[in-house]
Amino acid sequence: TKFEALGLDKSLLDAISDLGFENPSEVQEMAIPILLEDDTDLVALAQTGTGKTAAFGFPLIQKIDKDSRTTQGLILSPTRELCLQITNELQLYSKYERSINVVAIYGGASITDQARQIKRGAQIIVATPGRMKDMIGRGMVDISKIDYCILDEADEMLNMGFMEDIKDILSNTPKEKNTWLFSATMPKEVATIAKKFMNNPQEITV
Ligand code: AMP
Repeated sequence: TKFEALGLDKSLLDAISDLGFENPSEVQEMAIPILLEDDTDLVALAQTGTGKTAAFGFPLIQKIDKDSRTTQGLILSPTRELCLQITNELQLYSKYERSINVVAIYGGASITDQARQIKRGAQIIVATPGRMKDMIGRGMVDISKIDYCILDEADEMLNMGFMEDIKDILSNTPKEKNTWLFSATMPKEVATIAKKFMNNPQEITV
């Protein structure tokens, strides 16, 4: 299939076929080979509903070290609903992986329950910025060794006033990592984040 040509492993291809995805969407076709092959930062301008969750989710799942329980990937998203939706999608994508643990972190639910889930070993955390910052402050989560940071719907997050939280969170991540930023639009605030926290990102527009 065209997904095979993008360089995805069999475990992902099997999950993709279970999901009934026949062809990669445009953003997937553009982003997946770049993210699989290059250790690069990426800015992707893409609307919601274009398949961007899989565009970052497939490469993230493929690149995670499955033998390590350390938190390796952090996805920040603007709302609880989106956070749960991304978590659910990533769990479907990784169903044939030996052990990938994806945990959702968001406000309005028990923080101790979420801390407990992280303690069990979450290689991927999908979080809203407010709760994430809170949990970092309380020492409930360690993102000092992540390899991948994804900012999903960056323009929405900044519209919602999460600039300071995002800066605070990113300052707790290692310098040596790849940041993948997805946004429908590129207002000044998004450009500021990209400039301050990203390293020579490749750019794609869908
Ligand atoms: P997203 O933009 O990531 O929220 O995805 C929008 C919807 O499209 C979700 O329900 C996905 O499961 C679905 N989807 C993503 N990629 C594909 C694909 N290549 N073929 C068919 N459906 C897809």
